[in-house]
Amino acid sequence: MSRFLSRRFATLTPYTPGEQPQNRNYIKLNTNENPYPPAPAVAEAIRASTGEGLKRYPDPTASELIGTMAAYCGVAEEQILFGNGSDEILAFCFLAFCDRDVPACFADITYGFYKVFAGLCAVEAKIIPLAADFSIDPTEYHRAGGTVFIANPNAPTGMALTLPQIADILANNRENLVIVDEAYVDFGAESAVALTAQYDNLLVVGTFSKSRNLAGARLGYAIGDNRLIADLNTIKYSFNPYNVNRLTLAAGKAAIEDRQYFSDCCRKVIETREFTVNALWAMGFTVLPSKANFIFAKHRRLPGEKYYLQLKEKDILVRHFADARICDYVRITIGTREEMVALIETTKMILEERQ
Ligand SMILES: *Cc1c(COP(=O)(O)O)cnc(C)c1O
Repeated sequence: MSRFLSRRFATLTPYTPGEQPQNRNYIKLNTNENPYPPAPAVAEAIRASTGEGLKRYPDPTASELIGTMAAYCGVAEEQILFGNGSDEILAFCFLAFCDRDVPACFADITYGFYKVFAGLCAVEAKIIPLAADFSIDPTEYHRAGGTVFIANPNAPTGMALTLPQIADILANNRENLVIVDEAYVDFGAESAVALTAQYDNLLVVGTFSKSRNLAGARLGYAIGDNRLIADLNTIKYSFNPYNVNRLTLAAGKAAIEDRQYFSDCCRKVIETREFTVNALWAMGFTVLPSKANFIFAKHRRLPGEKYYLQLKEKDILVRHFADARICDYVRITIGTREEMVALIETTKMILEERQ
């Protein structure tokens, strides 16, 4: 720490991203990226944007991309904001919608960035623990007394609330904003976007990093009541008006337009997830019911950290969290069928060695 760092941040604990090794060739199942490349039209669209135009700033209103997204989602253009990944959108939300007397309310086991954003914005984190089986009890969120953040499906459990459960939380928080982070919704859960017509206290946040195969392009979005989007734009234009670059604007549009490729990728990930879950069950693992592109699994003979380290030694990267409530588990991203066969075979070897 330099002697110039603001005292405000002296105790800030930043987010720890999953390992992104640059030189060793791991089977990479640790940061929930899509194992398949972006849609073919994406590379084409990016190439077409690399000419003369790149000397100009991108469209700060992202109007073309927003038009495409609005038509795709069946909402008005004024209901959408794009950002540099959904992490940026979430940061805008903490800035715009939390305050000294408006805590951020979220689960004990959820996306780790929520706690970091609360620290960054110096707002209180009101923690609502998950049930013993790691599910979310909607009634625990009634009259939350702050801005609610729910990842649905949740991370790192992969477990999802149904749409009626989300609606129940919304109906019982008329005075509070509820932000539903749908980073993984396309892998089998139900999106709450349609509920934005009915609930002005709902903001849905999403990303192109997972189901749209574009983690490297950094593109996320918020969908909600146009006044909420106007508030987020106030923050955006006070921070970084050109937050989505030209190449990513083009990539995002092409990714939305290839609907067939999108649904094929999601279907393959879901099929591979079910295949992997069955194989791990057969080996004696406990696997939480996942609607995401990852699974959360534990084995009684294999402590989570040990399993993570032994896989890493054998060139397979998964994610382990030290948090006491979940340290028995590892989070495994669903890769290609071949990658998951490698994971399963390696896991068999590890278990045999421990007999
Ligand atoms: C991956 C993830 C994000 C961040 O996505 P980016 O768009 O890549 O910033 C947000 N929320 C959850 C729950 C995630 O898992």
